[in-house]
Amino acid sequence: MISVFGHTNPDTDAITAALVYARLLTRQGTPATAYRLGDLNFETAYVLREAGLDAPELLPALGAGSPVALVDHNESAQSAPNLHELEVRYVVDHHKLGDLSTAQPATLRFAPVGCTATLLLDLHREAGLSVEPGDARLLTSAILSDTLEFRSPTTTDADRAAVEFLAPIAGIRDVSAYAMQMFAAKSDLGDTPADKLLKMDYKVFAFGAQMWGLGVIETTNPAYVFGRRAELIAAMLSEKAASGLGGILLSVVDILQGTNKTLVPSDSEAAVVRAVFGAATEQQVADLGSRISRKKQIVPALEAAHLS
Ligand code: MN
Ligand code: MN
Repeated sequence: MISVFGHTNPDTDAITAALVYARLLTRQGTPATAYRLGDLNFETAYVLREAGLDAPELLPALGAGSPVALVDHNESAQSAPNLHELEVRYVVDHHKLGDLSTAQPATLRFAPVGCTATLLLDLHREAGLSVEPGDARLLTSAILSDTLEFRSPTTTDADRAAVEFLAPIAGIRDVSAYAMQMFAAKSDLGDTPADKLLKMDYKVFAFGAQMWGLGVIETTNPAYVFGRRAELIAAMLSEKAASGLGGILLSVVDILQGTNKTLVPSDSEAAVVRAVFGAATEQQVADLGSRISRKKQIVPALEAAHLS
């Protein structure tokens, strides 16, 4: 049995890709089970509730040599804790290649599209298999989530075409209305503790000699998040110290305006943000303008900075 899972601090794509790819592998004669590497965010919980589905189980401890399929990630810092001991058989991903290595030849599907779901639709087509309505709903949700309903610069024509094809199968008549409901669910953060807000969509990257933590909160209500700025900064500084990070940033993305205002906890990050993005930090906030994609606009710039 192959274990299929997306990244830690899972988003909608990480969860739905695991569910849909596990089903596709199974339909192709390779039994597979979907797992998750963390709690669902509010958007994903909404998507699964609307689909009438339960969340996948948390990934149990896997013994050395266990066969796995990675979806929506490939970097070990974002994966199962003992990934280096596991046998990676499949990867379906739309992120940059990180430190992935395999003991055996593996089946890899990477492409610079907006969402893993777009690749999963292609894999169904190539296998000559139809997409079931429930899976079509999950894939549509993931594309709307990852591309912020096509607002993100990561969006490709393939993502738009995939939603056009999948939404009718899913029975989603008004795609925009459904996307707004997803974003509203994601933005309804209630009294979620600051450390959980920080980690809701949070990834660790190696930049030069440093590890950096990059969080994103995509919301239709940035005012709520900035109302909790002091708590969030405190959570960021404590995570930075606890994990020995070189830097930590938390980007607050206004989904509807397409803008990014990033929390910058200390002078060392502020210096990097000024050098890399040309943005000044005032009162621990830097205006990063329309750079709303961590994958396409934040990570590559920090990577190119060769931090020492
Ligand atoms: Mn993801
Ligand atoms: Mn994704």
